Amino acid sequence: MSDYIVLDPRFERLIIGHARVEKLFTGCRWAEGPVYVPAARHVIWSDIPNDRLMRFDEGDGSVSVFEHPCGYHNGHTLDREGRIVACEHGGRRVSRLEHDGRWTALATHADGKRLNSPNDVVVKSDGSIWFTDPSYGIDTNYEGFRAEPEIGACNVYRIDPASGAVAAVVTDMVRPNGLAFSPDERILYVADTGVTHVPGTPAAIRAYDVAADGRSVVPGSGRQFSLCDAGLYDGFRVDWRGNIWTSTGNGVHAYAPDGTLLGKIPIPELVSNVCFGGRKMNRLYITAQTSLYSIFLATHPAGYPG
Ligand code: MG
Repeated sequence: MSDYIVLDPRFERLIIGHARVEKLFTGCRWAEGPVYVPAARHVIWSDIPNDRLMRFDEGDGSVSVFEHPCGYHNGHTLDREGRIVACEHGGRRVSRLEHDGRWTALATHADGKRLNSPNDVVVKSDGSIWFTDPSYGIDTNYEGFRAEPEIGACNVYRIDPASGAVAAVVTDMVRPNGLAFSPDERILYVADTGVTHVPGTPAAIRAYDVAADGRSVVPGSGRQFSLCDAGLYDGFRVDWRGNIWTSTGNGVHAYAPDGTLLGKIPIPELVSNVCFGGRKMNRLYITAQTSLYSIFLATHPAGYPG
């Protein structure tokens, strides 16, 4: 009995055949945005409609409320100094949890207009912060505060690490959502969940070539990397070999860098996002609708031994 569906032999080298999906917590309304903090050995994730951050303690397995209210956080990541970077629907901003415990704003506007509702975020090796800005946090009062968009588009933005300037880098998507870089940072992957607003929008992960200066993407380089066969992709992460581990409507799906669907990890809820964690960074944490799950893998993100 396996908790995996193997579609390509390459998948068998990425998994532990007898490892099981563990359900660690349930009771959220919409779990999202997991981030693993190695120094604390805990996972922080969002329960967006309940306006709270949750905390899973890897040491004793306990779960507690980390912050409530929190400003309707969605996606999180860690920066190069180990600080949590957050996407806030409520404040319509990207923020950072400083070492002294205060949240500071990193981005609130683009071209003088308020952001829609930052959704997911990644930090590049040069310290720049790249985030998506769809409208889900201002569409209704459920995951934030309903408001009219000011920008009139849903883009991917980059925050410059030196100046703090916010610049649009991807402007040809309907509702950009999850995002991640390839291990060599030459490709930016972005999921489009635009079918929620524009029928016919492919439920795809798109790939963009990062420009030579590392500060933008090559114009016109966007292409479809993969098409979801079960609902929508939301958030995803990339392992050290460039395989993509992504959320879908029926579990976690893994793709090779060439776009081949390698295998699936079925989850009995809509999966929203994943992150690597654990002492060896080989444990995949999975947020799915009401719950937090995990499973150990035979892979890990770039930058870690193993
Ligand atoms: Mg998302």
